[in-house]
Amino acid sequence: MKHPYQVGITGGIGSGKSLVCRILHRGFDAPVYDADSRAKYLMQHKRELIEQIIQHFGKEAYTPDGTLNNAYLAERVFHDVQAVKQLNALVHPQVALDYQAWLMTHKQAPYVVREAALMIESGAHASLDLLVLVTAPVEIRIRRVLLRDPHRNRAQVEAIIAKQMSEEEKRRYAHYVIENDGSRPLLPAVVALHELINKKIRTKNT
Ligand code: ADP
Repeated sequence: MKHPYQVGITGGIGSGKSLVCRILHRGFDAPVYDADSRAKYLMQHKRELIEQIIQHFGKEAYTPDGTLNNAYLAERVFHDVQAVKQLNALVHPQVALDYQAWLMTHKQAPYVVREAALMIESGAHASLDLLVLVTAPVEIRIRRVLLRDPHRNRAQVEAIIAKQMSEEEKRRYAHYVIENDGSRPLLPAVVALHELINKKIRTKNT
């Protein structure tokens, strides 16, 4: 079966990966699969996954009205590496299935974009044609997140960053890097990425 060319966009929190994806979507009509929000959706709506989460984390993982109890789950996994692994081991295969189904509905697109913070950790990068890392120095990322997410404080953002794979390690997997440190405008960098993707597609098809 013919797939569209698959581009992954990853980067730590505040790197600007969502903004890059928004530009590719709005500017070039690229379909974007947002793995992090789909994961949240599936945890709330996919029966099989809900049952597995309850089995592993207890029925407190959902409130009596059936809403995901984010506070409880966050508390369970925040200081427990094993619990995070367990939760990811339940969620990632469901996201992989969901992505495959989504991909089927975009067979006509020249390329699709998969956005995920945990792209490499989930193994999703392995099936992509091109992995793009969006990156920026930690201090800039913290400042951006504090402006974007008023409900988070600096210590919380630092704790999230400390748990994510380092940018240095991610660079080893990336085929292409966008340095989004604010010293250069982002728009031309995304246009250049779009052009590179099209060049790769042409090369692949000849
Ligand atoms: P991520 O998805 O990687 O967590 P976002 O794309 O949401 O990051 O970017 C974090 C915040 O920083 C957003 O409010 C975004 O608009 C802003 N931002 C990202 N890159 C830039 C940039 N180059 N210039 C100005 N603001 C930026």
